[in-house]
Amino acid sequence: MKKILVSGGAGFIGSHLCTRLIKEGHHVVCLDNLFTGSKANIAHLLKHPCFDFVEHDVEIPYHAYGIDEIYNLACPASPIHYQYDAIKTIRTSVIGAINMLTLALENDAKILQASTSEVYGDPIIHPQVESYWGNVNPVGFRSCYDEGKRCAETLFMDYHRQKKVRIKIIRIFNTYGPRMLPNDGRVVSNFVVQALNNKDITIYGEGNQSRSFQYINDLIEGMVKMMNTADDFIGPVNIGNPNEFTILELAEKIIRLADSKSKLVFKPLPHDDPKQRQPDITLAKGKLDWQPTVELEEGLKHMIEYFKNNHACC
Ligand code: NAD
Ligand code: UDP
Repeated sequence: MKKILVSGGAGFIGSHLCTRLIKEGHHVVCLDNLFTGSKANIAHLLKHPCFDFVEHDVEIPYHAYGIDEIYNLACPASPIHYQYDAIKTIRTSVIGAINMLTLALENDAKILQASTSEVYGDPIIHPQVESYWGNVNPVGFRSCYDEGKRCAETLFMDYHRQKKVRIKIIRIFNTYGPRMLPNDGRVVSNFVVQALNNKDITIYGEGNQSRSFQYINDLIEGMVKMMNTADDFIGPVNIGNPNEFTILELAEKIIRLADSKSKLVFKPLPHDDPKQRQPDITLAKGKLDWQPTVELEEGLKHMIEYFKNNHACC
């Protein structure tokens, strides 16, 4: 049994990760300030004897002993949430990374950073390989998130080189699944909620921009596999599903699968919205023996079922 700390553990991805780690028989400490996460996401774990929830903001130093591994996920991930208080977002990424790296140093723990495909910005290289340095606007509306995550990667590398902290960096591509909030603002949850309520589907721009969507279970498997690699493999490594779809294709699939009467409406494209995104996962396949197994239609069916039963329908 390991003692594993998950920052951002009450969020969408974090709650699935905590559940997986508890199932594996570990002691899990979930650290979260509940900004976009909730106790409802971890309600099934709260009474478990090996699960501790600590309401804490990662901007504030956190000290604990006996920690073997840390997954650093604390950070709002949806554009509407990370732009709500941009200064707070960048502080969470940067100061949060320093505080979690310090905790790793104090415990001689391994630490994994949940980085993002956003470090590639609006990519010119397609598909994106880990060696690509990206095309990021440093002064735009998305910069608080993109540059915060880039700086966190730098901090991870510097703590590794200078202080010998054992690190892992994964770059997560668009991930969806149960426990996303109905008002999360990201495209899959927005479209599923709209479709189930027969409301207009809001396409930003002309809908020709593309994304590659990964189901949550595949991501969790990749995260755990990455944490368990030998210390000399630190990444960064892309974790995503390389099957790429335009936003229009996604909308049409969701309308069909939800048997919805929704119509498409076109809204302005947000600032600096990346035009295309697709992970090259050669490295993950080779080093982690990992690849996604849930294709988009199957994952969307789970997502539609979840929202029908839990939140948003009519
Ligand atoms: P989420 O918003 O559901 O989860 C983030 C969690 O972090 C929430 O529980 C939130 O309350 C918590 N949090 C935010 N600021 C905090 C702070 N200052 N102190 C403590 N806790 C704080 O989002 P998610 O989709 O689960 O994303 C989790 C992580 O994965 C994020 O770091 C995100 O950048 C990364 N990621 C997600 C995706 C994706 O598609 N979902 C893609 C790339 C990277
Ligand atoms: N998008 C959209 N309608 C929505 C929400 C998002 O057309 O209701 C688009 C958005 O402009 C972007 C893509 O879907 O091109 C993915 O958006 P999301 O916020 O989910 O993720 P990110 O832009 O961070 O990849």
